[in-house]
Amino acid sequence: MPSLHQALENAVGRDACLHRPDELFVYECDGLALDTGRATAVVLPRETSEVVAVVRACIEHDVPFVPRGAGTGLSGGARPVDGAVVIECSRMRRILEVRPEDRVAVVQPGVVNAELSRVVAPHGLFYAPDPSSQAACTIGGNVAENSGGPHTLKYGTTTNHVLAVELVLPDGAVARLGSAAGGAPGYDLVGVVVGSEGTLGVVTEITTRLEPLPEAVETLLGIFPDIVSACRAVGRMVRGGLVPAALEILDQRTIAVVEDSVYAAGLPRDAGAVLIVELDGAQSVLAGQSERVHAACEAESATGVRIARDDRERELFWKARKNAFGAMGRLAPDIYLHDAVVPRARLAEVVEVVCSIADRYELPLSNVFHAGDGNLHPIISFDRRNAGELARVMEAGREILQACIDAGGVITGEHGIGTEKRDFMPLLFRDDDLDAMRRLRTALNPEGRCNPTKLLPTPRFCAEANPHARGYDRVPLA
Ligand SMILES: Cc1cc2nc3c(=O)[nH]c(=O)nc-3n(C[C@H](O)[C@H](O)[C@H](O)COP(=O)(O)OP(=O)(O)OC[C@H]3O[C@@H](n4cnc5c(N)ncnc54)[C@H](O)[C@@H]3O)c2cc1C
Repeated sequence: MPSLHQALENAVGRDACLHRPDELFVYECDGLALDTGRATAVVLPRETSEVVAVVRACIEHDVPFVPRGAGTGLSGGARPVDGAVVIECSRMRRILEVRPEDRVAVVQPGVVNAELSRVVAPHGLFYAPDPSSQAACTIGGNVAENSGGPHTLKYGTTTNHVLAVELVLPDGAVARLGSAAGGAPGYDLVGVVVGSEGTLGVVTEITTRLEPLPEAVETLLGIFPDIVSACRAVGRMVRGGLVPAALEILDQRTIAVVEDSVYAAGLPRDAGAVLIVELDGAQSVLAGQSERVHAACEAESATGVRIARDDRERELFWKARKNAFGAMGRLAPDIYLHDAVVPRARLAEVVEVVCSIADRYELPLSNVFHAGDGNLHPIISFDRRNAGELARVMEAGREILQACIDAGGVITGEHGIGTEKRDFMPLLFRDDDLDAMRRLRTALNPEGRCNPTKLLPTPRFCAEANPHARGYDRVPLA
């Protein structure tokens, strides 16, 4: 039998197989840089058949494997367990088919999110899920995380846009699930795969819906004295029957850091918070909606409402919003970016609680979030080199998540569970609920070889949940 490295090189070619320590170092983590592991090799397949050959090599050599896209995930999903083979899909980046009449595209998983919208724009179409990382993240990663973005409020998350997938199962079989025509009979396994965080196999092809580009777009900036008023304006708009394409809040600290950076968009530095409201649709209805947005902002103490004058200013607003996390590097060397969802009606109240938790721990907190979905992103800036600071950050984070759960929320809106929140799952689900999920994973991934240690907490006795598990689930967090 050839060695593992030889088998991997046979599968993908020498130039697509990395195993030098300096090459592997790059793959030690995803965007959750606090959690690292060391892979034994990284492969970059171009075709489904190469993924199958890699998976078979892993089976023969009894090693786990980890699917990976661009590594922008924020919950440790693509971080390798020690000794794993990373299957990085970034070379599977072909758009295989665009069918404007069916409003469907068929893509390989490594296609970058923003690239798909760029390519289908001449057909008057776009791909709606738009994570703020869309210039880098892949559709495969989006499928695995069920990613959202600013336009989730009106258009839904990735799961609402995936019609079919091709999946290389952990035993090397290739399953084609769903149908481009929509509404495939049988179990909704596409729904199961979307959001499964790479624990059920490697997605090698995706059939997505495409949406018609709206006739008109108007982007407004509500300016508020404080973040609570901005949250209340969101509630007022939705209660009043408005469903904007996006409702995004940036707080005062975020405004300052963005305005100090290359992403400056002319946001008012003296505002307590700004609310970006994007309306899209027929030109004839936009004017009426815009008036209602003005009225809702004014009723909640807005000190002003600006309308982006042109596409350039509109792009500036979005650049500021989508690059705010990056700009946070100006505040401190490390950030901890949380992701939780609360019922929209409790948004203002929970944001206040979150701010008070950070104050109590004496940690600088910024808030920039998808307010329309109740999807909070409290960001703590810190320096892990300072003694005791990381421990305070983790403790504050735990309290923040608990506050969101207490308000009837959940522990992730879009970034997934990964390794980061795996041990928080019992706060949300009962044993029976978690067992049902484990049984599902075991049905498709019986040996636990595919992306072990992610998503579900390890049961007290591993064999209780899965007698065939190889024990990869017991690999401790680094
Ligand atoms: C600045 C910034 C802003 C962000 N904004 C948003 C946002 O607005 N909304 C949002 O939802 N997320 C956001 N994210 C998080 C992240 O970009 C998304 O989770 C994204 O979907 C990850 O894609 P990726 O290609 O980088 O996947 P990776 O990070 O490489 O992997 C993510 C998960 O997907 C699995 N995976 C990857 N490819 C495959 C495949 N082919 N088959 C099976 N499993 C696979 C991995 O195993 C892992 O579990 C942001 C991240 C950053 C850094």
